[in-house]
Amino acid sequence: MTVPAPEAIRALPKVELHLHLETSLRLRRLAERRDAEIDDVPALIADPSKFTGYDRLRRMRYATRAGRVPDALYTAENIEEITFELLLEAAAHELKYVEVRVGGRRGFQLLGTPRLLEAMARARERAAARFGIRSGVIVTIVRERGPEEAEQRVREAVRCRDCGVVGVDLAGDEENYPPGIFSRPLSLAREAGLGVTAHAGEFAGPSSIWTAIYQLGATRIGHGIRAVEDPALLDHLREHRITLEICPTSNLRLGLVPSLASHPLRRLIEHGVPVTINSDDPMLLDTDISREIALVAQALALQDGALTRFMAAAARAAFLPDAERRDLERTVGVAPAR
Ligand SMILES: [Zn+2]
Repeated sequence: MTVPAPEAIRALPKVELHLHLETSLRLRRLAERRDAEIDDVPALIADPSKFTGYDRLRRMRYATRAGRVPDALYTAENIEEITFELLLEAAAHELKYVEVRVGGRRGFQLLGTPRLLEAMARARERAAARFGIRSGVIVTIVRERGPEEAEQRVREAVRCRDCGVVGVDLAGDEENYPPGIFSRPLSLAREAGLGVTAHAGEFAGPSSIWTAIYQLGATRIGHGIRAVEDPALLDHLREHRITLEICPTSNLRLGLVPSLASHPLRRLIEHGVPVTINSDDPMLLDTDISREIALVAQALALQDGALTRFMAAAARAAFLPDAERRDLERTVGVAPAR
């Protein structure tokens, strides 16, 4: 058995559901390309590799000094440009549909949510016209900013649905901020017809996933790899078609799995849990969607059919109206499920 060649993987029609815009990091790279004056004082950061999980992620972000980009870079034009750039990269990897997450607090505060989302919408329309790539926006709520800010963000996201907001995501410090405290804001999102996904079972165990499902109504789980610790949860995910957004390099780089060969993905697939492959923070992690799929194919010795099944699962779990979702399933080469 040979795994598909990199060119074949790149040419595979794709859908990606878990992709952060990485606003401040992209703005920093944009400023560097323009030779703009930016504060280059090194941040006082201990070696990220000494930490694991969310602590390491935080320190990796600090180490990029992206948080030090000046407020002046947060313009509607720059947000449009970095969004367009992300979609250009996505189209180069044959992504037919992508859900882009935006959660950086400064963007929402400095520009205001409508201007931020309108700037992203302009980029998405341009990318659709130029490359035929479709996209939606997921507004990310960060746990450690508390339920009040979460509710405010959800209300704004609902008001801006016309700008292509398709869902809401819960992210951040999973161990210290359990999903349950965000049940009210996320119920507002659900009532408004937005999709709900939550980072869970990444830094915390299966109870975090159960809570995200029962108290937030999440139909998708970001990562969710620790579901393998609970057979009853695996059954529940399979029976209710709750889809896991697996991000292999992210898990590896944050020290959550020792190797891709031992990644829980194999057990999830064997158990029949719907799984998708994603790049998470590709700029921070120095990866892309084709590379993620190639790594998984290599580590688990997967064939073409298995890779198409990842894309089918992603198309089925997309936060799209039924007709558009079925259309997307046909685009990635599978018969619509229903
Ligand atoms: Zn993520």
